[in-house]
Amino acid sequence: MRLPATVRQSGTAVGSISRSMWSKELERHWCTPMVSAQLLRPFQRRLLAWYRANQRRLPWRKTRDPYRILVSEIMLQQTQVDRVVPKYREFLQRYPTLETLARARTAELRRIWYPLGYNVRPLRLRRIAQRALRDYGGRVPDSYDGLLAMDGIGRYTAGAVLSFAFKQDAPIVDTNVARLLSRYFGLKGQPKKGPIKRRLWELAEAVIPTGRGHLINQAMMDFGALVCTARAPRCPTCTLRRTCRSFPVFTSGVSQGLDPSTRTTACGRGLAPRPASDAVRGGQDSAPRAHKEVPRAPRPDPCGGRGRLPVGLHGKTTNTPHPGRHRAH
Ligand code: SF4
Repeated sequence: MRLPATVRQSGTAVGSISRSMWSKELERHWCTPMVSAQLLRPFQRRLLAWYRANQRRLPWRKTRDPYRILVSEIMLQQTQVDRVVPKYREFLQRYPTLETLARARTAELRRIWYPLGYNVRPLRLRRIAQRALRDYGGRVPDSYDGLLAMDGIGRYTAGAVLSFAFKQDAPIVDTNVARLLSRYFGLKGQPKKGPIKRRLWELAEAVIPTGRGHLINQAMMDFGALVCTARAPRCPTCTLRRTCRSFPVFTSGVSQGLDPSTRTTACGRGLAPRPASDAVRGGQDSAPRAHKEVPRAPRPDPCGGRGRLPVGLHGKTTNTPHPGRHRAH
């Protein structure tokens, strides 16, 4: 299916991400006007190869049942993977189908959900189950429109269900994906703000090889959680380092055994080490959430506007780095 307001890869470059599609405002936030095949192809090839060898074994990846995937995605909203896994199993043991969930009693739902928090979620899930029974013949809808019409489902969750359950080439952008895409393609700006947020979604679709959206989406999430992390990206050994526009990112020289004073930009010029305290917690609703980050104050660009590290996605956060996956709606 074609997705709304998106772009697709074509030819030797991501042709549909053309300059003509961009507003001047968007171009001001973007280092590179075109995403060339020289960036795109290695990204896809190396990332998928890395994923084949390093993917996380998670229970919701063993199924394509839309209901089970939907449950996992709702549970993962703002919640770490290791907390979700046992609850995911318990929840599905008690409510194995949409029908059983639709009939669930509120008190029991809340008891089984505890201690995941954000307790409106199980009630939303029940409403989704009831609506699916009433309006969709007892099935989770397989379209953006159908999913977005459900209570508590936003663009991310809809994309995840379409991608992982129905194998549609639907883009997803959570915080891990946003960080990886921003660093790799040299995007700068605030990932939660309009132009950059829009650009991230465009990129998230542009990097999908036809028919393999479910793979590259999972690969990007795992790579962002395990390699291109917020605090200590493993740039020196990263499989994408030769083509990454932000290589190397040093957010914690100690954690990589490197001297923070050697921190450089993609153009090779030095940057002063950032103090550990220059980031604070932040959050957003419908976009990336995994490691909440807030952009730093702008600083002079030693690259003269080229190859500058993306602001707001390269830095340290006050969150404990965790290979978990938090989700937006
Ligand atoms: S080289 Fe560093 S910044 Fe670039 S993708 Fe790899 S880990 Fe992320």
